[in-house]
Amino acid sequence: MLENREKIMEKTTKRFPVIDSADCNLCQGCVDVEPDVFYYDENSGRIVVQELAEYPVAQVDEAIKNCPRDCISWDILEKMPLSRNFTEEEILGIG
Ligand code: SF4
Repeated sequence: MLENREKIMEKTTKRFPVIDSADCNLCQGCVDVEPDVFYYDENSGRIVVQELAEYPVAQVDEAIKNCPRDCISWDILEKMPLSRNFTEEEILGIG
């Protein structure tokens, strides 16, 4: 039962990288590591995270590891309220 609940939690959350722009020095190291995720936005003058359905964990972890200002981190997006009570059928994987 616990395994099914964990599967539900996976479906209801999404990890995505965030950048603390206040600390970012615009070195573009993250862009060099993973240009499909990070890019320099000329309009805002900031490094921006692309909106993707999923993020390449290894490459983002590499960008996090190499960021000289430690200003990249993972955050979690809740796709639906985790506080809601799941039905027994959902937890059992038959709902
Ligand atoms: S590696 Fe870090 S400091 Fe450099 S541009 Fe990316 S987020 Fe900013």
